[in-house]
Amino acid sequence: LAKQTGHAHFQFYVASIDQEIRDRKQMEKDLTQALVNREFHLVYQPQINLESKRVIGAEALLRWEHPSRGFVPPDDFIPVAEANGSIVEIGQWVLEQACAQAAHWAAEGTPLRIAVNLSAVQLRQDSIVTDILDTLRRHSIPAGRLELEVTETSFMTNLSDAVAKLHRLNQAGINIAVDDFGTGYSSLTYLKQMPVQHLKIDKQFIRDLLVNEDDTRIANTIIDLGKSLNLSVVAEGVETAEQEYYLTQRGCKLAQGYYFSKPLQPRDFETFVQDFHQQFVESNV
Ligand code: C2E
Ligand code: MG
Ligand code: MG
Ligand code: MG
Repeated sequence: LAKQTGHAHFQFYVASIDQEIRDRKQMEKDLTQALVNREFHLVYQPQINLESKRVIGAEALLRWEHPSRGFVPPDDFIPVAEANGSIVEIGQWVLEQACAQAAHWAAEGTPLRIAVNLSAVQLRQDSIVTDILDTLRRHSIPAGRLELEVTETSFMTNLSDAVAKLHRLNQAGINIAVDDFGTGYSSLTYLKQMPVQHLKIDKQFIRDLLVNEDDTRIANTIIDLGKSLNLSVVAEGVETAEQEYYLTQRGCKLAQGYYFSKPLQPRDFETFVQDFHQQFVESNV
C-alpha cells in the first residue's frame, strides 16, 4: 500500500512539475508580446522625507495587466523576464516611461526625483551606461533627478564590472540605492567600494519592527551603518504611525510605504503630493 501511495504521489509530483514548466514557457512567450501589446504601465510610490514631511520623489514600479490572467505581480514575472533576457528591453521601456513622467512633472513645476529598479541582468549589458545617459538626455532630465535601485546580488557575478559601471553612472550625477538591503549577500568591504548614496531597509525588517526584537536590532544596525558610511537610509514598507514614529526618532531620514501611500497612477500621485503638502502647511499654522 505504501508503495502504491508513493507511486501515486510521484505521478502527481511529475504532473505538477510538467504543468509548471508549461506555465513558465507560456509566460516567457507572453512576456515577449507584452511590450508590443502595451500591457505594461508604471505606478509611482511616494518617498517621504521624515524630517521635513515633504515628498522628495517616487519609486516607479512596473505593472503587467495580462489579457486573460489579469494582474501579474512583478515578483512572479520579473524573475522569468530576467531568465529569458526580456528584462533588458522591458527595463529600457521602464526607464523611458519614468523619464517621460519626470519630464512631465518638471514641466508642471514639480521636479521630483524618480527611482527606477535596475535588474542585475540589465547592469551586465555592455551598453547599459550609455543607454541610461542617452535616455536622460533625450528627455532633458538632469542626472541628479534619477536614482537607480540595485540589489546586492547585482554585484555578485562580476564585482569589478558592476563597480566600474556604477561609478560611471554615479560620476554623471545619478544616485545609486541598494535595494532590499540586509536580505542579500552583504559585505561591508564591497559596500565601502561601491558608489552608493542610499540604503533601503527591506520591508521584511520593517513589518515587525516594533514586535520582533531581532528586526528592531537589524533596522537599528542599518540606520547606524548608514550614518557611519554617510549614506541616507530609506525604510520601505512603512505601514503604521508607530513605525513612522520609531524610525523618525531613531534618525532614519526617508521612508515609503502604505502608511503614506500605495503606488499610484500618475494623476493620483499628483493629487497625493498636493494633499500631503497641504496637510502639513495647515498643521504648522
Ligand atoms: P522593490 O523594488 O523592493 O519594491 C518594493 C515593493 O514593496 C513593491 O512591490 C511595493 O509595491 C511594495 N510595497 C511598498 N510599500 C509597501 C508596504 O507598506 N507594505 C507592503 N507589504 N508592500 C509595500 P511590487 O510593486 O509588487 O514590486 C515587487 C518587486 O518587483 C520590487 O521590489 C522589484 O524588485 C521588482 N520590480 C518592480 N518593478 C520593477 C522594474 O521596473 N524593474 C525591475 N527590474 N524590477 C522591478
Ligand atoms: Mg525598489
Ligand atoms: Mg526594496
Ligand atoms: Mg523588494
